[in-house]
Amino acid sequence: MSVLIYAENAGGTFKKSVFEAVSYAKAIADQNNTDLVAISIGDVDAAGLASLGKYGAKKVLNVSGDKLKNFINQAYASIIAEAAKKEGADVVVLSNTFSGRGLAPRLGVKLEAGVADGAVALPEQNDGKFRVKKTAFSGKAFAVVELTSANKVIALIPNSYKVVETGGIAQVEDFAAATKQSDFKAIIKEIVRAADKVSLPDAEIVVSAGRGLKGPENWGMIEELANLLGAATACSKPVSDAGWRPHSEHVGQTGIAVSPNLYIAIGISGAIQHLAGISSSKVIVVINKDPEAPFFKVADYGIVGDAFEVVPQLIATVKEYKA
Ligand code: FAD
Repeated sequence: MSVLIYAENAGGTFKKSVFEAVSYAKAIADQNNTDLVAISIGDVDAAGLASLGKYGAKKVLNVSGDKLKNFINQAYASIIAEAAKKEGADVVVLSNTFSGRGLAPRLGVKLEAGVADGAVALPEQNDGKFRVKKTAFSGKAFAVVELTSANKVIALIPNSYKVVETGGIAQVEDFAAATKQSDFKAIIKEIVRAADKVSLPDAEIVVSAGRGLKGPENWGMIEELANLLGAATACSKPVSDAGWRPHSEHVGQTGIAVSPNLYIAIGISGAIQHLAGISSSKVIVVINKDPEAPFFKVADYGIVGDAFEVVPQLIATVKEYKA
């Protein structure tokens, strides 16, 4: 028996969410007195691969190749499933990212495994039962699911488990995966990146604004605050529907779900559909001129005030602090 963690990379480097998932998978391996094996697909250099040992991976399987540089759900799922079978892994752990959420159900089918996506805590293993706490109803509630099948797939929400350094360097092995032509039905022709922008789904800090900003011409201060904090920018649905901001920034039930350490909501009312996408945030700061705005009910810190007065003051304070 072993535990397999899929360590996804972004342009050849691992993000913090991967170190969290490796630490989490290592804790599951320890619960079961077994080893942790990692698998990386794409172009990560030798030092990067070996660094996964710091968080508990004993061995890293490296799969590279021109066709595998970019994430292709079918092909990646086939490779991870093949590695899981070869390693005799009962538990496969992923990060609950855009790609992790796509891979989890495919792996569930390929491995005949029970799937818990949106996991937020280590599994409880008592009396032969394997239970995982996960988010439910777009993050509005938690559920504890029991995985009764022999194989299990768990996708861990970023920022829900701490990075634990256990020391060590992993042994890196090339893994020759037997992909088929039918695994490459999707072809990525071009990837267009928003220049110098922090990626919203992975951001640790998000500065988000809503209709209270009145119009697209007022987003300069939102971008300035985000730049100063190293944050991604986001918005409510009506804002992207109106074309004030791109749809890629729309957060909520029908948009992107984020789980940053800090979510700053400016001029957003806090409708339930918006909250569905942000409820896994660690700390929520709300700036709204209406003291009755529903967002204040879920805020850790609230500022009742006009965004056009509060945000410039916040920018000035951050600048002063950084100087
Ligand atoms: P408003 O509701 O207009 O709120 C603006 C807020 O700004 C108010 O609270 C106001 O007090 C405050 N404000 C105004 N001026 C200022 C100022 N100068 N300074 C500070 N504060 C100010 N919404 C999403 O965001 N994401 C979704 O995924 C989503 N999915 C949906 C799915 C469905 C099926 C439906 C029906 C709706 C969905 N919505 C979604 C829409 C959602 O219900 C709300 O209508 C929307 O979130 C409101 O956006 P808002 O808060 O920006 O605007």
